[in-house]
Amino acid sequence: MTVVTRFAPSPTGFLHIGGARTALFNWLFAKHHGGKYLLRIEDTDRARSTQPAIAAILDGLGWLGLQHDGEVTYQFSRAARHAEVAHQMLAAGNAYHCYCSPQELDEMRAAQKAAGKPMRYDGRWRDRDPKDAPAGVAPVIRLKAPQTGQTVIKDLVQGEVTVENAQLDDMILLRADGTPTYMLAVVVDDHDMGVTHVIRGDDHLNNAFRQLQIIRAMGWPEPAYAHIPLIHGPDGAKLSKRHGALGVDAYRDMGLLPAALRNYLLRLGWGHGDDEIISTQQAIEWFDLDAVGRSPSRFDMAKLINLNAHYLRETPDDELLPMVLPRVEETLGAKVDAIGLERITRGMNGVKQRSRTLIELADNLVFYARTGAPPIADDKARGVLTPEAKSLLGKLAAALEADAANWGEKQVEDAVRRFAESMGVKLGQVAQPLRVALSGSTVSPGIFEVVAILGPAETRARLLAAAG
Ligand code: GLU
Repeated sequence: MTVVTRFAPSPTGFLHIGGARTALFNWLFAKHHGGKYLLRIEDTDRARSTQPAIAAILDGLGWLGLQHDGEVTYQFSRAARHAEVAHQMLAAGNAYHCYCSPQELDEMRAAQKAAGKPMRYDGRWRDRDPKDAPAGVAPVIRLKAPQTGQTVIKDLVQGEVTVENAQLDDMILLRADGTPTYMLAVVVDDHDMGVTHVIRGDDHLNNAFRQLQIIRAMGWPEPAYAHIPLIHGPDGAKLSKRHGALGVDAYRDMGLLPAALRNYLLRLGWGHGDDEIISTQQAIEWFDLDAVGRSPSRFDMAKLINLNAHYLRETPDDELLPMVLPRVEETLGAKVDAIGLERITRGMNGVKQRSRTLIELADNLVFYARTGAPPIADDKARGVLTPEAKSLLGKLAAALEADAANWGEKQVEDAVRRFAESMGVKLGQVAQPLRVALSGSTVSPGIFEVVAILGPAETRARLLAAAG
């Protein structure tokens, strides 16, 4: 059997972080088994589905690197096929017309509520003679669901889950206006797309019982189900807006790398021993559903950022450059010139060791792209530039001039050390003001590396500017 999975988002908003994880699990499961991963946009809810949401979903999945196989299926475009199946079920006696008016249904529910009974359709048209049909009323089509026994799902994550059929009423398959219900559409699409494994959030577990009833009524092969626990916030409550960003696009804007987010989402609900850093290749090799946990996982932003820092360090410098250049130029308010580009290229490795996101990386690189003194970042940095420190910097500028012809990291270090010694101060008393003068900040890559990369003229200019 070839494994076929699908991700079936409803385009009513951005690509949610939980949706992204569902997509990832489907993608990995298919890849692991050499199968196919399909994408279906569930746009049947016409009032809530939007084109920008579809674009955001496709964009988010593309950015995450979760490429689907084949064409995208748009559920709404298949409405005629869904209706066809409803009529097949009607013809086979597995479904029936129900002529209840909305008012009648309201009364039914009110009566049930008053009697303290669960509110569900009572099946009043199930065995009624269609000749009783009131004139001029367009009927809905309802499933003739089994009324006794149980429906059992052997869920690959949740284990065996059972529902008494008496608890499930005869759900509507086709509305009076001929449009399919969501429950019918999902089942027909999964069948027609050849889906073998339905992997989705466990908020759909209840739907699975109803969907299975339709599948059985049609005599179709049953897919395997895997309902994965939802993602919770650090406080243990279901992830929601108040926990911060929910859309994948927000994580991109935070300067995260897709590989880092993939790795993080993978570990959110799935594990392989104590492994934290798992490449996508490794994930494909290892991924299976038996290691998906049954309890909700907690979203931890700090962990995600730390993982991102790791992936940032692992990314080749030349790949990082185009990712950060636009932001550097935005901060600079100008294009980075050839000299700036050369410095950034040389400085990239040192700066990326100290950055956790692409945003931090870009911001930490800007001082290399400038000509002349960088703005002082904060009060802490300003505090370093005391009158004594400024005076030292002025003298250091003069002292370094002797080394201009032979300007390497080592030479610069030797020269600065000699200078500190000759002034009778500790190295740190020179190095920290030097750092602030050159980078505008109290944190930077190794200061001698910075001096070496900036070169004698630029270093001198910045020292003199800071010396005042
Ligand atoms: N469209 C549903 C959702 O976005 C998913 C349905 C399914 O996976 O069966 O929650």
